[in-house]
Amino acid sequence: METDLISIRDLRKDDIEEVLGLAAKYKSRSPASENIDVGEKVLGTLFFEPSTRTRLSFESAMLRLGGKTLGFGSVESSSIMKGERFSDTVRTFSHYCDLMVVRHPSEGSARLASELSAIPVINGGDGPNQHPTQALCDLFTIEMDKKRLDLKVALAGDLLYGRTVHSLAQALALFGSDILFISPSSLRFPSYLKEEIAQMGIRVEEDDDLKKAKDCDVLYMTRIQKERMSEKAYEKVKNCFVVRKEDFEDSDTLIMHPLPRVNEIEREMDDLPNARYFDQVRDSVPVRMALIDLILNGKLEVCEGETEKGKCPNQRCITNVESMDTKVEKGRCLYCEKPLD
Ligand code: ASP
Repeated sequence: METDLISIRDLRKDDIEEVLGLAAKYKSRSPASENIDVGEKVLGTLFFEPSTRTRLSFESAMLRLGGKTLGFGSVESSSIMKGERFSDTVRTFSHYCDLMVVRHPSEGSARLASELSAIPVINGGDGPNQHPTQALCDLFTIEMDKKRLDLKVALAGDLLYGRTVHSLAQALALFGSDILFISPSSLRFPSYLKEEIAQMGIRVEEDDDLKKAKDCDVLYMTRIQKERMSEKAYEKVKNCFVVRKEDFEDSDTLIMHPLPRVNEIEREMDDLPNARYFDQVRDSVPVRMALIDLILNGKLEVCEGETEKGKCPNQRCITNVESMDTKVEKGRCLYCEKPLD
């Protein structure tokens, strides 16, 4: 059976625990899975946005499992420059590999890719919407340290356009973590997601003072997503928060960041024992090995719901880029996941 991983919503708590458990085996290099044989399999990376870690860690994971990888080096070197549509590129690409990781600026693009291809698709980031595999890597790093996931976590920075925090907040809520959102007022965490998380029985607070994170188990810092806003809007918020050594050197709060960092964590922080952002990079390889293993072996089952036809009002949604109807699931667009009203 083909399994895609498009949104963190696709996973139940049990599925996440299974991924993290297998990742721990890969990390300790104990024989992880009895029936993985990826020797002949090819992982394709279809990236329409820049990436260092997501693409390379997927490639590294596949190579370490004994498989092969392919992908175009840049959009500029592909037929996208000749005006090819996303859907045609996806259909083509899916014939060259057995598993595909897609990154694209339109929300819902990975969901559409999964419908257009007969091979499993993993979302490597669809605009400001979701980055589910980063959330799994983040949970793994937290669990390795804290041994539990029902914690108090501060998510800080650009909470509106940062896709990693959208996926991570939903995942943490499944495990019972309370969340403190710290952001400038123009970049608040989306209210529809906040309500959803609060309905899961999670304590959700909002603040604009970074020092409040000192009372949390984890401070997850993020970059302002410059590419998703005007130059003017960016100028206003670009230096809004900086994690400083003087504030966090005596604290037990783990300092995390999905990277790349611009200037939101002082370099002086890097040698502190609670700085975890390069551990996150290291941990992403066993987590992605576990995911590839489970997906290629058809062992990851994702939740699927009933849908009906509709029109999505979100202009960043792939359904509007591709001029198509959306599918509505529980009042939300199935692709970009935004409520329709
Ligand atoms: N690398 C992460 C992402 O692709 C975080 C970021 O770019 O700020 O979403």
